[in-house]
Amino acid sequence: MKCNCLKIIADDLSICKAVAEYVYDWGFKGYAERQEPFILWRQMVESFSMFLGGSYKQFLLPVNAINVPNFEMKTVYSNKICTSALLALFGEGRTFWTKVKTAADLGCSPTRHGNVGNMNRCFKSNNPITIALHAHFHKLIESAEVRATRFVKNEVDGTVMVTTSDDDGDKIYLPSNNGTRQSYYQYCLANGWKCSTSASGLVTKEWVGGVEG
Ligand SMILES: [Zn+2]
Repeated sequence: MKCNCLKIIADDLSICKAVAEYVYDWGFKGYAERQEPFILWRQMVESFSMFLGGSYKQFLLPVNAINVPNFEMKTVYSNKICTSALLALFGEGRTFWTKVKTAADLGCSPTRHGNVGNMNRCFKSNNPITIALHAHFHKLIESAEVRATRFVKNEVDGTVMVTTSDDDGDKIYLPSNNGTRQSYYQYCLANGWKCSTSASGLVTKEWVGGVEG
């Protein structure tokens, strides 16, 4: 940080405690809730600057002094901080601030995180795609390769230099020819589409009909 807005925190232990309390509690809030105070602060400083003129140090230090004895709110009022310092306190950056500004300028509520409550993101168990995928993955697991057990590998390790990881006892190994692409083609075939790849890498799907168990 280039500015010295936050120097007051280093100099004044009660300010430091009060700011820490505020920021700590804020960290437990939800994505949208965390934007709310910033939107209000932004709107307040914008409205004041219409009468008083803009200043780059315009925000109050966010404080919760409920557990700080003899706290002097006057110190907070007389030590305003700039936007960068405010964001630095919360570990937020430009992206966050852009969202806050947009919401503040439109007078609207903070935006929720992209996928919150988006039902289209959830797989429903009765959806035909879900059923087909489930059957496909089940088949994949059945075709899993048998690998040497940990015991055998350890014995081998004694004589030949083979690196093995020690904690993979429960892992299932898919056949080595089963890459993501091959796996997808098998899935398509099970659903009636035969996929083939041309030399240039272009994938063509051909309807061969019928849905295989
Ligand atoms: Zn500053």
